[in-house]
Amino acid sequence: MSETSIRRDWITRPIFRWARKVLPALSATEREAIEAGDVWWDADLFSGDPDWQKLLATPAAKLSAEEQAFLDGPVEELCGMLDDWAITWELGDLPPEVWDFLKAHKFFAMIIPKAYGGLGFSAYAHSEVIRKLSTRSISAAVTAMVPNSLGPGELLHQFGTKAQQDYWLPRLADAREIPCFGLTSPEAGSDAASMVDSGIVCRGMHDGREVIGIRLNWHKRYITLGPIATVLGLAFKLYDPDHLIGTRDEIGITVALVPTNLPGVEIGRRHLPAMHVFQNGPNQGHDVFIPMDNVIGGVEQVGKGWKMLMSALAAGRGISLPSLSAAAAAFAAHVTGAYAAIREQFHVPIGRFEAIQERLGRMAATAYLLDAARRLTCAAIDQGHKPAVITAIMKGQATERMRVSALDAMDVHGGKGIMEGPLNYLGSLYRAVPIGITVEGANIVTRSLIQFGQGAIRSHPYILKEMLALEESDPERGLDEFDRAFWGHVGHSCLNGLRAFSRGWTFGYAAPAPPAGAVTDYYRQLSRYSSAFALAVDLALLTLGGNLKRREMISARFGDVLSELYLLSAVLKRWNDEGRQEADLPLVEWCMEQGFTTIETRLDEIMANFPNRPAAWLLRFLTFPFGIRTLGPSDKQTQACAAILLEPSPARDRLTVDLYRGTDDGGVTRLDRAFTLISAVQPLRERLQKAHVRDIAAARQRGLINDAEADQLKAVQSAIAGVVAVDDFAPEEISRRAARTQGEVSSATATQFQSNAAE
Ligand SMILES: Cc1cc2nc3c(=O)[nH]c(=O)nc-3n(C[C@H](O)[C@H](O)[C@H](O)COP(=O)(O)OP(=O)(O)OC[C@H]3O[C@@H](n4cnc5c(N)ncnc54)[C@H](O)[C@@H]3O)c2cc1C
Repeated sequence: MSETSIRRDWITRPIFRWARKVLPALSATEREAIEAGDVWWDADLFSGDPDWQKLLATPAAKLSAEEQAFLDGPVEELCGMLDDWAITWELGDLPPEVWDFLKAHKFFAMIIPKAYGGLGFSAYAHSEVIRKLSTRSISAAVTAMVPNSLGPGELLHQFGTKAQQDYWLPRLADAREIPCFGLTSPEAGSDAASMVDSGIVCRGMHDGREVIGIRLNWHKRYITLGPIATVLGLAFKLYDPDHLIGTRDEIGITVALVPTNLPGVEIGRRHLPAMHVFQNGPNQGHDVFIPMDNVIGGVEQVGKGWKMLMSALAAGRGISLPSLSAAAAAFAAHVTGAYAAIREQFHVPIGRFEAIQERLGRMAATAYLLDAARRLTCAAIDQGHKPAVITAIMKGQATERMRVSALDAMDVHGGKGIMEGPLNYLGSLYRAVPIGITVEGANIVTRSLIQFGQGAIRSHPYILKEMLALEESDPERGLDEFDRAFWGHVGHSCLNGLRAFSRGWTFGYAAPAPPAGAVTDYYRQLSRYSSAFALAVDLALLTLGGNLKRREMISARFGDVLSELYLLSAVLKRWNDEGRQEADLPLVEWCMEQGFTTIETRLDEIMANFPNRPAAWLLRFLTFPFGIRTLGPSDKQTQACAAILLEPSPARDRLTVDLYRGTDDGGVTRLDRAFTLISAVQPLRERLQKAHVRDIAAARQRGLINDAEADQLKAVQSAIAGVVAVDDFAPEEISRRAARTQGEVSSATATQFQSNAAE
């Protein structure tokens, strides 16, 4: 008998038997979610010993010449056509010429391959388009975003039959068809798999022939592009009571294409999501018959809808909302820095107040970090990865940080940010925040269940192997696989214990790092935190087992640590990819110091709340023997970041690169003009300040400035007044608008009431 078989039969077997009994089995939907996509840098972070060379060797995301031309041409032109105030408050929709332009230039076909008439763009190009549009009009950005994310285009491309691809993709590419995707229903939001929308396999008439098909009944809501869609990608539960296509009664979640002109489809009413006017609304179907051919992937793919959705989300979640959020953070940093340089109170620009700099510093660093992470994630997707855990991190973290930046921007702008009107450039972004937080997995559930809950299973080197071994139908084969995975896991944990100990007790100096100039030590610290995290995860799994899933507060904190490790890796990568810019170091430092504090605090909280106290003491002894030592960025670091936003510089340009800069007389254009002017006259203003003279005429009289300089200062004064101005309206303009809105709402409420009563 070999040592391995003794180990397997005498030690592993009882553990295997016990684990099979006590550990909860994965549900089908959990399993499909976990198996969707793949793992990438997240697996390195989970290993406790990330391979930095692998990260640094990842090619930076890059646009092709054709993609760049699209951004410089149609995207720029489209931005110029968008008047967000008119779209939101006057038209309640994009104007017809914008719809035509979007369709003609294939904005809805960025992910459709060229062979089918689409643009076949990389993830990065797709992200850049959304990023730029988002800085001009959220309603336009969401309109362009949705056909390119989870929906018929993506699903057909990945799972459609050849015949379906040949028929539908060209029609989607040239916008003959407008798609939407219907998953959410009144009873099933975050728990989308609990939908009651149903399809019954039956015989019916299609194109004058009797065929086997599906009779659908559904009620969906919140569906973006729903009101104007010509084809609905519908998720429903399929049943086959007469066994027309197999032997199972309940087949499971299935996705099919439903042309919206079919009898029984009710579509067209609109929701008003936080006063944004991208098309969004409910839809219903009553006994709608579709042929079996309309199931995406055909009859072989019935019941595999959840897997398809998870697989499409695994990449898509990393593009749309992170791009919008990174745009929002960069835009907020740009306008707020400029405004703080212009707006004076107590006779000084408010940007000179430390408390304002505290916000500006955070905004600058957030903009740097989010764009770093967006670029890295796009680069991974363009390399062919579908990193499900990383994209969930991106979705949750990017939208959360966008929220903080949007609030900071509003606070710094004061009343200027609040008064709505054509001159307000912040209101729309502020109202978009809860949308980003809620869609594609609401953030609370994303943070507490998906980032870490799935991450621990997906990205951990051994957990998934152990779980699959436990579920193996042949117990002997399961035992063999479990034996290998379990002892690999034990070795991995012991090694991590040693790593975490040596790195913890030397404050990270024993951790490896690539030679990276001024930031080498940050790599060491991240390696240290990675091993502490990996050890903590193993101890949590060992002591909490399947209960970890229910301990959402602990899970969420692990999710935060994993997220920070990823985002901070992206910051280091960006600094390296951009040629190690000295002027950007304050931003890198700020992100690192803030991230380290979050990591240490969360790990500390995890240890404080670990139900198994000896495990918590052991973890603390090994990883943080001297307690929590980080305090976050110093005031000096925060001020250095704020300074980047307060004056024009190449560092500021890198941070706010490729935001749309208009030529109209709207709020941002005025702000940009005033910012340029004020920066140019700074030496003059300082001269006057030193002489304690505020009045331009008095300064001229005293010979402090010449005539040309006086004119320059007057031009600045008038530019500042233009920026500080807000809109006001005649009372009847506001009441007219209110009356219109009220009329629409009450008619909708009445209809809803009637339909509820009828039910
Ligand atoms: C503007 C907009 C556009 C949308 N577009 C589409 C679309 O095109 N197609 C589509 O199908 N859907 C769409 N949605 C729906 C969107 O995906 C859902 O709103 C989302 O899944 C959340 O569902 P819910 O709003 O019902 O919230 P609920 O599921 O009711 O959640 C309420 C709160 O409970 C939390 N929560 C739920 N379960 C847990 C848990 N286990 N642990 C901890 N917290 C939990 C959530 O995080 C959330 O904070 C859209 C929504 C909006 C607002």
